[in-house]
Amino acid sequence: MNYKKVYLKPGKEESLKRFHPWIFSGAIHHIEGEPEEGEVVSVYTSKKEFVAVGHFQVGSIAVRVLSFHDEAIDYAFWRRKLQTAYDLRRAIGIAGRADNNTYRLVHGEGDNLPGLVVDIYANTAVMQAHSVGMHVSRMAIADALSDVMGDVVRNVYYKSETTLPYKAELEAENGFIKGGSTDNVAMEYGLKFHVDWLKGQKTGFFVDQRENRALLERYAKGRNVLNMFCYTGGFSFYAMRGGANLVHSVDSSAKAIDLTNENVALNFPDDSRHEAFAEDAFKYLDRMGDQYDLIILDPPAFAKHKDALRNALQGYRKLNAKAFEKIRPGGILFTFSCSQVVTKDNFRTAVFTAAAMSGRSVRILHQLTQPADHPVNIYHPEGEYLKGLVLYVE
Ligand code: SAH
Repeated sequence: MNYKKVYLKPGKEESLKRFHPWIFSGAIHHIEGEPEEGEVVSVYTSKKEFVAVGHFQVGSIAVRVLSFHDEAIDYAFWRRKLQTAYDLRRAIGIAGRADNNTYRLVHGEGDNLPGLVVDIYANTAVMQAHSVGMHVSRMAIADALSDVMGDVVRNVYYKSETTLPYKAELEAENGFIKGGSTDNVAMEYGLKFHVDWLKGQKTGFFVDQRENRALLERYAKGRNVLNMFCYTGGFSFYAMRGGANLVHSVDSSAKAIDLTNENVALNFPDDSRHEAFAEDAFKYLDRMGDQYDLIILDPPAFAKHKDALRNALQGYRKLNAKAFEKIRPGGILFTFSCSQVVTKDNFRTAVFTAAAMSGRSVRILHQLTQPADHPVNIYHPEGEYLKGLVLYVE
């Protein structure tokens, strides 16, 4: 293909031969021509052998690979990729169900589309670009999306204001790039919720906890539930459907608490079992009594970068220690970490240390991760980010 050419330093094609989709700027020997940010480039070894095509960007990751074949990145390419992504969601039985119209259609590297996230909420797709290249291609991607999804997706909301590198000065405004709708109620396994794609975090809902919420439902019967870091209340309405005795949802954001109350009312109007509190997690855990025997801890990413790892692990340790201290005998703790830089082992060690501090007998019932619509590219293990443990505390 006739793209500008990036030449690697000798030997720097190793990771690409193993299909890793990132090329760091330090691996580049020289570039022919002056590609703009977001432009498609071809990548060659020092011996002038073709290795990949991808999106060029200024920064530590200089190229995000779109294909290891010498092919055009055109409308037909986007269409093929989105079709593959949709086929996968149907094959695993998460798309096309009567009781569920919420799922992740595109999970970046996990769908061989680094820099792109697409979540489906009923008839609206919320699209998020994390790279300049995906931003530049947004209209072609939105067209291909309509083509592939037909009537399933009538609106495409573009939400990249906070996810694009600010140095690129793209000034991407959030808004509909196709259709437009104020009907923002979607369904997850038969439960309804409002998606705040306008102002909400991420694409408006944490789609990645679906299977873990479904598991929680099975343990909720007769229990007193604390849903800490509830955001829009996902775990809370599953606990209620599971027959919980009471459910308390806590989040430091007043807006999140409003959303939680709205969502609970949508599914369980006038149900007095639920109460929500806008309060800091640590303060609440300190002042609360010992009434809870099912606790969910799903904090925001404590570490966004490697240097913050130590502090993050300390955060997980402290947080979990408080839960171990207060949870009733025979209680169940669902505890999570969504920090990508915190490994499964790091997280386990932090939680184990917290358990040991409490001196209680603790057993692992389940080890949880992200659901199948957030697949991990086997050549890009960094894509595994969600970790969870379900613990039985005597
Ligand atoms: N469990 C949620 C997602 C949690 S996201 C779900 O299933 O959808 C993390 C949440 O933690 C955010 O809503 C954020 O507002 C909240 N948060 C961040 N810091 C907090 C703190 N110190 N105390 C309480 N909540 C906090």
